[in-house]
Amino acid sequence: MFTKKKKSANGCTNSNQGAVNMSQEEEKQELKENLERIKHKIVVLSGKGGVGKSTVAVNLAVSLLKKGYKVGLLDIDIHGPSIPKLLKLEDENILGDNSERLIPVLYSGSLKVMSVGFMLGNDNNAVVWRGPLKYGVIKQFLKDVVWGDLDYLVIDSPPGTGDEPLSICQLIENPDGAVIVTTPQDIAILDVKKSITFCGLLNMPVIGVVENMSGFICPHCSKSVDIFKKGGGENMAIEMGVPFLGRIPLDLNITNSGDSGNPYILNEEYKESEAVKVFSSVVERIDNFVKGRK
Ligand code: ADP
Repeated sequence: MFTKKKKSANGCTNSNQGAVNMSQEEEKQELKENLERIKHKIVVLSGKGGVGKSTVAVNLAVSLLKKGYKVGLLDIDIHGPSIPKLLKLEDENILGDNSERLIPVLYSGSLKVMSVGFMLGNDNNAVVWRGPLKYGVIKQFLKDVVWGDLDYLVIDSPPGTGDEPLSICQLIENPDGAVIVTTPQDIAILDVKKSITFCGLLNMPVIGVVENMSGFICPHCSKSVDIFKKGGGENMAIEMGVPFLGRIPLDLNITNSGDSGNPYILNEEYKESEAVKVFSSVVERIDNFVKGRK
C-alpha cells in the first residue's frame, strides 16, 4: 500500500509497502470516522469508457466548489487515472503527515484531490493489480487520506462494473448515489444500462443519467449535427426508471479544456454556453437530490 512520497523505481507500485499492523476493528473505526466527516458521497459511473465520465466528475466537483462547498475529488480509476491530467496536476506528489496519513493534492487552493496517478511517476507506467489489492488501495484512499470535513466527495470510478465500483460501494456504507454518464448511441447505452442494474443490486440510489456528447453545433454553418445520435441517454433513463439530468453537447472547447487541464466550467469565456448551462442545472439537481435525502 501507499506510504508518504513512495514511488517504486519502475513505477509499478508494490503491494505491501509500509503496511500498517492494525486490527480489523481499528481499521473499520478509522474508516468510519474519516467518512463521517464527509456529508455527501457521489459516485460517477459509466458502463463504457471514453464517454466523458472523468470530465463530468471534474466539472461537477469544480462546480460544487464554486457554489461554496468543501469538496474532495477521488479518482479510483486505478488503471487509467485521468484526473491529474484534467486538472494539470500531473507533477504533484503525495505527501504524508506526521502520523503517516496521506495529504490530498490541492487544486485551486481548496479542492482536495487524490488519485493513483500521483503515485505512478511516469505517464507510461502501468498498474498491474488484482482485485484484493485494488480494494486495499481504495480502502486506504477512504481511510488514510486527510479529507477533513467535506460537504461533498465526488468519486470518479473506472468504466464498467468491476472491482473498483464494487469496492467503493462496499466501503462506503451509504453513498448518496450515482451519476451515470453515457453518450447517446446504442453501443454505449447497451453497456451503461448495466451500471444502472449494478446500482440496483448494491442498493445505491441513481441520482440520474447525464447524456454527454449529445449533438454538435458546427462552428462554420451553425447547423446541429448529431454525431453520436441524440436522446439515447434520456430514453434509457425512462426505460430503466431513473431520472434524466441533462444533455451536454459535444463541444471542442470541452476537449481543449480537458487537454490543457483547465476545467471548462471555470472558463469565463464559456459561461453563456449550452454546456455550462447544462452542467449548472445538473449540479443543482444533484444538490437538491442529496439534500432531499436527509
Ligand atoms: P471517460 O472518463 O468516460 O473515459 P473522459 O472524461 O476522459 O472520458 O473524456 C474522453 C475525452 O472526451 C476527453 O478528451 C474529453 O476532453 C472529451 N470530452 C468529454 N466530454 C466532451 C464533450 N461534451 N465535448 C467534447 N469533448 C468531450
